[in-house]
Amino acid sequence: MVTAREAVAAVVDPEIRVLTIDELGILRSVEEDPATGRVVVTITPTYTGCPAMDVIRADIRRALAAAGHPDAEVRTVHHPAWSTDWISDSGRAKLAGAGIAPPAPVRPRGVVPLTLSVRCPRCGSPETEQLSRFGSTACKALWRCRSCSEPFDHLKAL
Ligand SMILES: [Zn+2]
Repeated sequence: MVTAREAVAAVVDPEIRVLTIDELGILRSVEEDPATGRVVVTITPTYTGCPAMDVIRADIRRALAAAGHPDAEVRTVHHPAWSTDWISDSGRAKLAGAGIAPPAPVRPRGVVPLTLSVRCPRCGSPETEQLSRFGSTACKALWRCRSCSEPFDHLKAL
């Protein structure tokens, strides 16, 4: 039996399909009322203007219904605002594995980075350049590696 939390945590982001909404850090809480079985899910939107949130809400309700929780409500909380720092370490590893350069930490944890260059997810080279502010979606920028000359998506830091 899949719990409500597990069902919701497995929902993938419609734009970054390699990440679940849990790994992306937008899933705040899943609360189930033991008396009524009603589930309340709280999420925080990612990039302003990303049209994915309606899709995510529908996917959450569908996943909960499939797990035996047809009575569900999805709430949206804007504070504190989501940032790319909320992406989990496993989520960052998955992004790199999918050829998407993970965002640099906005608030470095302890260490001040010497460079803000975006590394190529294929060969690891820091010799990269931005081709376009918008990649395959508004959340990503299109970059190119000067070492292996491969284009790649970079999830914008926020
Ligand atoms: Zn490269």
